Amino acid sequence: MFVGHFAVGLAGKRAAPRVSLGTWFLAVQFLDLLWPVFLLLDWEHVRVTPGYTRLSPLDFYDYPLSHSLLAAVFWSALFAAVWAVLRRGRPGRLRIGLLLGAGVLSHWVLDFLTHRPDLPLLPKMGPYAGLGLWDHPALAIALEGGLYALGIFLYVRSTRARDTAGRAGLWALLLLLLGLWLASAFGPPPEEDTPIAWATLSLWLVVFPWAGWVDRHREIGP
Ligand SMILES: [Zn+2]
Repeated sequence: MFVGHFAVGLAGKRAAPRVSLGTWFLAVQFLDLLWPVFLLLDWEHVRVTPGYTRLSPLDFYDYPLSHSLLAAVFWSALFAAVWAVLRRGRPGRLRIGLLLGAGVLSHWVLDFLTHRPDLPLLPKMGPYAGLGLWDHPALAIALEGGLYALGIFLYVRSTRARDTAGRAGLWALLLLLLGLWLASAFGPPPEEDTPIAWATLSLWLVVFPWAGWVDRHREIGP
């Protein structure tokens, strides 16, 4: 899943409006931020097998540290705890920390819908879970596209642009994510291991600051 994760981040802004969209995106994509790092460290592995699922050629045969359920719970708790510590003394920090932690965990739940049963509940030993929606392209695209549209609607309803950057910057970012999603679904399969890791990592290094920048050019309110 790709834009579906960002949809949760966009919707999160409504639940906790004082949290930047950049932070929300970081939370919902935290597991996919760790993943390329772990690939580069050779701690996790992926291979490209065209036709592996009808929508994605990525065979995630080994990603216990970023994508097992136990690890996802751990990263969620860590994210919530770090947030609560960094925001010491501010009202609502526990509630917001828990919301962000839930955002981290939502990543696993959405991946569970689309992936083949390749998500281990426990690292290295399974059992493995996944409903495999990627083998039902029309359903997968309708669900994910619908989630994305809903997320955008909620974000745009709960913030308003202060200036052109807040308006054009937002739509440019949303279109970029949409384009990347469609390219990954309908474009040629990516190259093996390392380019995937670098591409994913460099993408995140652009997306999170961009979302934070857009968010600073918008204010809370309809
Ligand atoms: Zn993922």
